[in-house]
Formats: sequence, structure tokens, C-alpha cells
Amino acid sequence: MLDLAIIGGGPAGLTAGLYASRGGLQNVTMFEKGMPGGQITGSSEIENYPGVSEVMSGLDMMQNWPEQCMRFGMKHSMEEVSRVSKRDDGTFEISMLGDKMVEAKSVIVCTGSTPRRSGIKGEDKFFGRGVSTCATCDGFFYKDKEVAVLGGGDTALEEALYLANICSKVHLVHRRDEFRASPVTVKKVKENKKIELILNSVIDEIYGDNSGVNGVKISDKQGNKRDLAVPGIFVFVGMNVNNEVLMQEDGKPLCDLGSNGNVVVDLKMKTSVAGLFGAGDLRIDASKQVVCAAGDGATAGIQALEYVND
Ligand SMILES: Cc1cc2nc3c(=O)[nH]c(=O)nc-3n(C[C@H](O)[C@H](O)[C@H](O)COP(=O)(O)OP(=O)(O)OC[C@H]3O[C@@H](n4cnc5c(N)ncnc54)[C@H](O)[C@@H]3O)c2cc1C
Repeated sequence: MLDLAIIGGGPAGLTAGLYASRGGLQNVTMFEKGMPGGQITGSSEIENYPGVSEVMSGLDMMQNWPEQCMRFGMKHSMEEVSRVSKRDDGTFEISMLGDKMVEAKSVIVCTGSTPRRSGIKGEDKFFGRGVSTCATCDGFFYKDKEVAVLGGGDTALEEALYLANICSKVHLVHRRDEFRASPVTVKKVKENKKIELILNSVIDEIYGDNSGVNGVKISDKQGNKRDLAVPGIFVFVGMNVNNEVLMQEDGKPLCDLGSNGNVVVDLKMKTSVAGLFGAGDLRIDASKQVVCAAGDGATAGIQALEYVND
């Protein structure tokens, strides 16, 4: 039986593994369906991880993290977990795709969240090369340039305001003429002279060349077409929380979830189920940054160690 099973090998899962195995847990395995590193490996540049002054790609940033964890005994299993459930005796069952199953005394779920894609032509092709879902991360690359933002919810409007502090102009494209965001945020957006509202409109295509995005093609409800020459487009059409592994046979989640499906945790990353922890982007109120996910992972790793030792 494992002392600890970690589901997901992004910054949260890797840091949880580092702290738990270095802290003395003997049987720690991290289950990651792809290569370890998480969603940041899809980003061309990261420049806000404290202490790392050099700008590097997400892939380079995460390169040494798995090796550091494995040095202290954490094992990595390249498997996709399908379900985590708890037995009456207090231990956990980790089911993998293909009928494999392992047992664990404690579990940290760090499966992250996935920004929803809009499905616009060119979005996948230019993702990470002009198409972004993170203004905090990528906004600075468009300093004093014009960008487009797609969306009409709180995140889209808040990120448009954030980008307006950096960029020369922000074109906010929304398919309706009213926003789903809080009135205070809507007022701020409408009063911001650097934000141009393009309402009742959709983006038909994101186009570019080998060096990245060159612009977006827009059409409004009357069928009028418009071409916006921007090097960056930020898409905020919602997030999918990767909480599927917590769903039980009866369709109910193993632990408490928030209204958006985020895992409810306390400051120790404890969920509503003893021995089950949640960390990183999938938890409630996550700041969705590498440093924050790593911090959550460290907390969860320390707490899992305490739980198993008790
Ligand atoms: C384009 C882009 C740019 C970004 N830029 C920055 C930046 O500049 N600075 C910054 O701080 N943050 C940035 N971020 C945000 C940052 O990447 C996330 O906040 C961080 O990666 C969250 O870490 P996590 O460990 O919680 O989840 P993730 O990184 O999402 O890792 C979750 C892992 O779980 C795995 N997984 C999911 N389901 C299963 C399953 N069922 N079984 C096994 N494995 C599973 C996934 O494969 C993934 O590797 C960026 C994000 C994107 C998309």
C-alpha cells in the first residue's frame, strides 16, 4: 500500500511529492497522464517565478522538478487516473484507465484546471504564440501594444482592466451587448479610455504566420466584418476544473466542491474527507500561478506526512 498517491504532476503535484518524500514518507507515487510539468509547459515564456530572473520557456522551467523529487524517493507512474474512492477502513483506492488499481493511505489531488477553448479557427494553432488564457502571465509581452480580449464575464473584464495598465489599447470583444460581470467591474471597464468595447460581435478567425498571431477577424450581428491587427488575443470563456477523478459511481463527488466544481479546502489543503487533500489550480480561490500551486503542494505534502504518521 502506498503512503501517498499524488494525482497530477504539475507544479502542485511535484512540490507535494518533494515535501512528502523528503519529509520521510516511504511509498510516494505521483500519477501523471502525460509528461510531468503541468500546463505551464505549454507556455513559451515565464518570467514571474520568484528567484528565477532569466526569462525561460515553461518546458525549461519545469525540466528539473521531477528529478529533484525522485532524488528523495518519489516514484512517477505515467498513468491516467479515472477515480479516487475511499473504503470503509479509511484507505483509498486509486483506479487507473485499463482496470489497474492501487491502494493508498492518503491522496493529494492536483489535476489542475483547463481554460476552456473557444473553438475559434486558429486558436489551437497559435495557442502559446499569441493566443493566451492568462493576462497575468503573458500580458507584459504586449507592453505598449494593442491586444484583443474575448469574453464577457468577470474574468474577461478584470483581465481587460489588468491589460489596459500595460497595453496601449485593449479591444474587448463580446457576443452580447450586456456583460455577465459585477456592475462595479463593468463600470470600471466602460470608464477606461484604453478599452474599446466591440459588442454583439464574434471572432471568426485568429490568423498569423510562423512568428505568431497577426490579427483577428470579427463580425457583428448585422454581418459587418472587421479586421483587427493585434499580436495578442486573450480568451476568457471559462475554466474546466479537472475534478473528474473525484466523481463516484453514483455521480456524487468524493469531497465537497464549490459552485464551479473547484475542490473546497482549508488553509492546510484538507478537503472534507480525512486523508484527502487538494492543491493548485483545482482548489477554490486558487490564484492560478505556478508559485501558488507550488506553495499549495508544499502545504499538502507536509499535511499528508502528518496524517500518515498519525
Ligand atoms: C499558456 C499559459 C501560460 C501561463 N503562464 C504562467 C506564467 O507566466 N506564470 C505563472 O505563474 N503561471 C502561468 N500559468 C498558470 C500555471 O501554469 C498554472 O497556475 C499552474 O500550472 C497550476 O499548476 P497545477 O499543478 O495546479 O496544475 P497543472 O499545471 O494544470 O497540472 C495538472 C496536471 O495533472 C495532470 N492530470 C490531469 N488529470 C489527470 C488524471 N486524471 N490522471 C493523471 N494526471 C492528470 C495533467 O496532465 C497536468 O500535468 C500559465 C498557464 C497557461 C495555460
